[in-house]
Amino acid sequence: MISPTITKQKESFNRKLIDSKYISGAKRRAMNYGVTFDETITRKLVFEKDNGQCYLCKIETHLENSKDSYQPKLSTVDHIIPISKGGPHTWENVRNCCLKCNITKHDRIY
Ligand SMILES: [Zn+2]
Repeated sequence: MISPTITKQKESFNRKLIDSKYISGAKRRAMNYGVTFDETITRKLVFEKDNGQCYLCKIETHLENSKDSYQPKLSTVDHIIPISKGGPHTWENVRNCCLKCNITKHDRIY
């Protein structure tokens, strides 16, 4: 039996992991391409800024990534102008995007 408290802690730990992983990845890319990197940007804050809505398909996304399976509605941070195209990692250039759209968009770009 897993108590609800432990489950909750696990979820919050997972979220932190996703955030720090995401941030370090974005920072590395921003440095590689020499674009501005705003340290205040996190997945959670971008999610809240856009009310959890995907800016492309308008579905409601979610932050929790507690399952290992592919979650098309998982909230991700998307750069309107990709970092690889010189887009900065700043509040003006980030939008909440579902995983499905993010992957589809990236397929088109790269
Ligand atoms: Zn979407």
